[in-house]
Amino acid sequence: MRCLVVSDVHANLAAFEAVLHDANPFDVIWCLGDMVGYGPDPNACIDRLREHPHVCLAGNHDWAVLGKLDIRGFNADARIANQWTQGVINQAARDYLRNLPPLRVEQGYTLAHGSPRQPIWEYILDPLTAELNFTAFETQICLVGHTHVPVSFYISDDNDDGPCEPRPPRCGKVVSLADGRWIINPGSVGQPRDGDPDASYAILDLDANTLEHRRVEYPIEETQEKMREVKLPVRLIERLSVGH
Ligand code: ZN
Repeated sequence: MRCLVVSDVHANLAAFEAVLHDANPFDVIWCLGDMVGYGPDPNACIDRLREHPHVCLAGNHDWAVLGKLDIRGFNADARIANQWTQGVINQAARDYLRNLPPLRVEQGYTLAHGSPRQPIWEYILDPLTAELNFTAFETQICLVGHTHVPVSFYISDDNDDGPCEPRPPRCGKVVSLADGRWIINPGSVGQPRDGDPDASYAILDLDANTLEHRRVEYPIEETQEKMREVKLPVRLIERLSVGH
């Protein structure tokens, strides 16, 4: 089964459409949260996701839109975008987001928005934080989002307490996950922050237990134009051009 793993779509429809097209064919979508916040198309992105067989987690931005989380913890731009989203999101999207968990186990894989031990808030950006999280899930592999940076962290089978190895993604290369344990981040579809503005995602083959990190170009200016029209913060518009 070919699984499209996405995270942090952040209401960027042009980026999401490019990923859906580029990843085709796939059997199911696993979305690791933050469908909304920052971008101009929250309702359309949720509608597009729901057209496919999928599972979806809640992220911090999703909870903030629902009022389940205090947005005073957000920076000013994120707060403004979140308040804008609260004003435009429809009831169906709201109801949909309300029922999403921030963590779940799916077909033997742990899925978490931030991290398995703090699924809403923790950022796994470095090997130490990753290492501390390997004891917080029981499956061989955990998929996370939230940082908007694609990466894999690996611990070998014979070195359980040993150093955790970060492995930068090699795009387009199919990597075997057969041995060791892994924490894998597919990066962000709608607001990449690793210096590459292309939409980031991963393909997980559940039968072969392999993973491929992938990038795809999308018409960034389309999203930026929509953001300008609704007066979303300039910095959020500009950062899409540089992937940061
Ligand atoms: Zn996010």
